Amino acid sequence: DRQYAEELKEPAVTLDGHRIHLYLNAGLMSGVATEIADGADGIGLYRTEIPFMLQQRFPSESEQIKVYRSVLQSAAGRPVVMRTLDVGGDKPLPYFPISEENPFLGWRGIRLSLDHPELFLVQLRAMLQAAGDTDNLKILLPMVSSLDEIDEALLYLDQAFSELRADVNPSLARPPVGVMLEVPALLYQLREVSQRVEFVSVGSNDLTQYLLAVDRNNPRVSSLYDSYHPGVLRALRQALQECRQYKLDVSVCGELAGEPMGALLLVAMGYDELSMNQGSLAKINYLLRRVERSELEQLLALVMQMSNGQDVRELVREYLDTRE
Ligand code: PEP
Ligand code: MG
Repeated sequence: DRQYAEELKEPAVTLDGHRIHLYLNAGLMSGVATEIADGADGIGLYRTEIPFMLQQRFPSESEQIKVYRSVLQSAAGRPVVMRTLDVGGDKPLPYFPISEENPFLGWRGIRLSLDHPELFLVQLRAMLQAAGDTDNLKILLPMVSSLDEIDEALLYLDQAFSELRADVNPSLARPPVGVMLEVPALLYQLREVSQRVEFVSVGSNDLTQYLLAVDRNNPRVSSLYDSYHPGVLRALRQALQECRQYKLDVSVCGELAGEPMGALLLVAMGYDELSMNQGSLAKINYLLRRVERSELEQLLALVMQMSNGQDVRELVREYLDTRE
């Protein structure tokens, strides 16, 4: 691991010259500054629900400003993708209990924010004020399943933005907005998505769960949860191709991006922005600096002919064994 860490200061460039940006997934402040300094290209996913979960009540606007400001400052000069509150599903807030039979198909992410504009507006106002006139903030909307949700969320952002410009800071910057691609239906509306927002972040954890209809936390079926399922891989490849076609910036922030086999396949598909937990950064960087993308493309062509996830893993594992 030391060896990996030594090299992390070098950018991740494949042997045939493709630069891959590696970002950090974060939610706690501890360590973020050093991790950024140690070589992440920015924060690709800041999960704002984490600071919310550590409190006894909804944090106030000024409390949120403080947290967001320290995140943005720790990554000064590099992009920070801040996701609006993504509670519900497997992420409960102790002071806001939700009881549902199907929490993963229920009230989570943007759905909850749009039903509680008073909470959503406070969060958006806090993000905008934390950024001020700096330009590294990007805002990401979680669990989007329809274009109407995007339009509605953008109206709230407009409102927060124009109120703050008028009342607080006339030179406030308007950040780029993106959506998580984690509900399969959105895969088929990327053209319309591109007319509304600047970027897409693929949440492969939830996308896999919803494509396969498998609750990843239910031990009875969790063995069916497989991001290397050929259907999932085709969805990921299609997402990349269409985002390129519609000129939408795209990155992957699910766990797959931080797995050696997953990162290789994603790079083979053409992804050049991966966001991962701190523990994966050095290893993925090390690996990418030792492969040729053209070779990965040939591997991907074989992978795409496999009929199940097990065979995909074996094939990629064999390839990896020749590299490590
Ligand atoms: C995802 O779904 O892949 C993702 C990154 O979001 P989370 O794991 O926070 O649901
Ligand atoms: Mg998710």
